[in-house]
Amino acid sequence: MAQKRRPGKKKTAPKRPQRKRPIKKKIAPVEEILFRVEGKMSTFGGPTDTGMSADEGLALFSSADLQNPKYANLFLATQPPGITGLGRRLDPEKYYFACRWNYNDTPKEFLKRALARAENPSNGRAADARPVDWGPNIATGRVADLSPGLATALGLQTDDVVRITISALRATPVKPVKAPSRAARVSRPASSAKPVIKQFVRSPNCSSRQMGTKIDKIVLHCTEGSLADALAEFQKADSRKVSAHYVIDRNGDIHQMVNDCDCANHCMGANQGSIGIEHVGSETDSLAPPQAAASAALIRWLLQEHQIPRTNIFGHDFTPGYCRPGGTSCPDKLFGPVHSQATISAWVAANV
Ligand SMILES: [Zn+2]
Repeated sequence: MAQKRRPGKKKTAPKRPQRKRPIKKKIAPVEEILFRVEGKMSTFGGPTDTGMSADEGLALFSSADLQNPKYANLFLATQPPGITGLGRRLDPEKYYFACRWNYNDTPKEFLKRALARAENPSNGRAADARPVDWGPNIATGRVADLSPGLATALGLQTDDVVRITISALRATPVKPVKAPSRAARVSRPASSAKPVIKQFVRSPNCSSRQMGTKIDKIVLHCTEGSLADALAEFQKADSRKVSAHYVIDRNGDIHQMVNDCDCANHCMGANQGSIGIEHVGSETDSLAPPQAAASAALIRWLLQEHQIPRTNIFGHDFTPGYCRPGGTSCPDKLFGPVHSQATISAWVAANV
């Protein structure tokens, strides 16, 4: 937020230009499911998991993997005191999980690179998560163990039901496990569904994008106020005339206010080619875990949907073209303690 009235914005008819796509007919790729379970879950991993011994390792990772930046972000930067194994070195805030894998169907090397979709069927919340271990023991009657952070993001407590899916389309493209199917031949490297939108609350403060404008940036904001205030402000046509495409509440609920194909008024000078995402928070808040998960899922979908380069995710104040004199404090400390684009980029690298 933190944006003044756009000067002299003319009213335009609410006609939307048809966006050009490389392939006109959108054929939904057939999703080849490589792994799916649905059943009870529990949580595991991290320094405080006394259910794991101090030297307990992980089925999919060894200490050598800590040197690989692709894997290292699942773990705490340093070994917690008294802990020698990788199980309790996991960062409990990261989204990881364990299932009872059949390594013939899903080999270890595939799983290490795979990105799974974990869903809470009772509230529709979903997040991407990484396999790290084999388990839980079948005697528990559970099908999966999740990181504490993932369970929180999905709103799950021990023995609630979780659904976990790994599909060929979602796997990080390394090498296919099975013979390439029709689905695998679709050129899109990954496919994720649009996260659930809790409500579309239409804002009048938008306009058609200029013909031929490509959506090429995502701008991240902090509301510096409550959800109710942001929704109210963006619905006012007679005030600052500001808006955003999405507003994500602290609990992960996503509200949409402007269609992607239209231009919202969220980043003076850079509205034409951008999608604006507001995150509910005060000037001193960091993202709440469910909010971070929802934001990451939404950003992933937007990147894919509009073919936006990953490098074009900006904090409001650091957006190329942003031209409000004096700048803005937005997005404050939501993505890290330092007001810098480097902070935003580091968050994106770790979470999106
Ligand atoms: Zn802002």
